[in-house]
Order: sequence, then C-alpha cells, then structure tokens
Amino acid sequence: MTLLKDVKFVPEQAIEIKAYHLLADFEAQYGTIVSPPVPIDRIIEKFLDLRFDWDEIDDTEDDKILGCLLPGKKKILMNSRHVKFFDQYWGTEAYTKAHEVGHWDLHVVKPGDPHQLGLPGFDKGKQYLCRNSTADSREIQAEIYAAYLLMPHQLVMQEIDGLDLTRWPNLYRLKDIFGVSITAMTKRLSKLGLIYVRDKVIYRSEEESQGYTTMF
Ligand SMILES: [Zn+2]
Repeated sequence: MTLLKDVKFVPEQAIEIKAYHLLADFEAQYGTIVSPPVPIDRIIEKFLDLRFDWDEIDDTEDDKILGCLLPGKKKILMNSRHVKFFDQYWGTEAYTKAHEVGHWDLHVVKPGDPHQLGLPGFDKGKQYLCRNSTADSREIQAEIYAAYLLMPHQLVMQEIDGLDLTRWPNLYRLKDIFGVSITAMTKRLSKLGLIYVRDKVIYRSEEESQGYTTMF
C-alpha cells in the first residue's frame, strides 16, 4: 500500500463514479441496498475490513479534527472529544465515517484495485488528520465522496418520488431516512437541481426564487 503526495484536480464526476463503484462492489457481496440509510458501519467493518475506534485527538475549537485515517493500520479513528458534537448534530458521525472511507478509496493506493484513479494520497503508516478548516483538496474530495456514498442518486430519486421538496418537514424527514445532517441533505438536493434555498425558503429553482413562477 502506498500513498501519494501530490494533489491533482479530480473532476467531481470521477469521485461520484468511485463512490458508486464501491457501493456496487459492496452490494455484489452483501445484497442490494433497497432503501436508505446506506449501511456505513457495515461497509467499513465487513466490506472494507477497516477497524474503527474512538480516541482523544488533540485539536482546538477553531481547528476541529473530527476523525482520522490510519491507512497502515487500516483504522478509522473518531475523535472522542467530539462525542457531544456528534450527538447534537445527528448525521455528522455517519458523514465523518463516510469521509474517511473517501480517503481510503480515493487517496490510499491499493495494488490491484481496478477502479484506482491513482489519486494523490498520504504516506503509509502516517495518520491523516481531517481538519474542518482546511482547504486541502483531499479534504474537499473526501467531503464530496461522502455525499455520494451516503446519498447515492438512485436512492435519493426513489425517496423523493411524490414528495414536495419545498417543505422543510419533508426535507427533515428525508435527512432522517438517509441518516445525514439537514445541511448535507439540502446540499445534495440543491446539487441535483431539485431545490434552491434562499433566506431559509425553499424554491424549486433559482428562477422561482426571483419571482418567475411556472404554471405547471
Ligand atoms: Zn479528511
């Protein structure tokens, strides 16, 4: 297992495809995920054979470290200093785990992986601390990956069928179903072009938010 150092640009679609490949490989072994939430713990422990633990990781309020990946030890470490944060903001724990899976899948070079993008990663044996505040492109890539892993296109389209997405209670119900935060759910639906949020009001599109309404 090697880890590359230089970071290069990766199109978002390539990250989306990587996440779906992982889900497809998981499903081939463990059966189709017919409804959300995506079983992230099972993916980590059973499918990827990564261990997963809680421990104190030193950080500051301004520079939070929620979790880290120890590729050489095949371990995801969650920061026990933030148990309260994870409890308060339900869904952030699953998202942090999915983010670490993103690093594992995108940034750790594993020999013989047919889907390997050859993306830059980190040194074997080193731990990789995930900072909230960083603009490191690997962090951004792992965040994007986590969204696709926990809210894959097919499951989102299935669950929103017939749902009025301009109503917050419906979005809150959706985020509970997917086991993510309301921020993550809203971002995902916005990215799919299904909603546009301005001043806490949900519109069907940006045009509608500017007063152009459609008759249909
Ligand atoms: Zn990270």
